[in-house]
Amino acid sequence: MKFFYCLGCHDIQALHFEWRRCFCGESSGRYLEDHRTAEYRGRALALGLRNSELTRLTRFMREVRGTAHDSSTEFEMSLFEIPWTSKWVRKVQDAGT
Ligand SMILES: [Zn+2]
Repeated sequence: MKFFYCLGCHDIQALHFEWRRCFCGESSGRYLEDHRTAEYRGRALALGLRNSELTRLTRFMREVRGTAHDSSTEFEMSLFEIPWTSKWVRKVQDAGT
């Protein structure tokens, strides 16, 4: 799963197939039709969350928290920066809509 982090307003947005803008509007991003490659514009960093982390979270919610809605135990996940040299991200100049 990919996100972008706007260096202007510090907003983080999850990507979808339509353009999504940050809070200040300086940065935006979206997924391309291949469902894997993302494009961004503005002063932003590309971030990723491994799908295996989401699987672990789902398992944690089911097995540790169960149905008790006990929120006393934290679950930690890590985002990582996707370098601009990655084939899975493109920096574009044109503003998204
Ligand atoms: Zn912003």
